[in-house]
Amino acid sequence: MICHKYGGDLEKVITYPLFKVGHNSIVIIKKLPIFQCQNCSEYLIEDPGYGES
Ligand SMILES: [Zn+2]
Repeated sequence: MICHKYGGDLEKVITYPLFKVGHNSIVIIKKLPIFQCQNCSEYLIEDPGYGES
């Protein structure tokens, strides 16, 4: 996949987003694979239906 902004390569990375749900609580949703651009801060969330091919 290629960044649609500058045409840079997107690297697949796994993130673990944290969501604050209260004063003292956070929730880790789950592993979230994203494609992070190497040239800018752009990223795409992996489409579950996209597949690895
Ligand atoms: Zn980019």
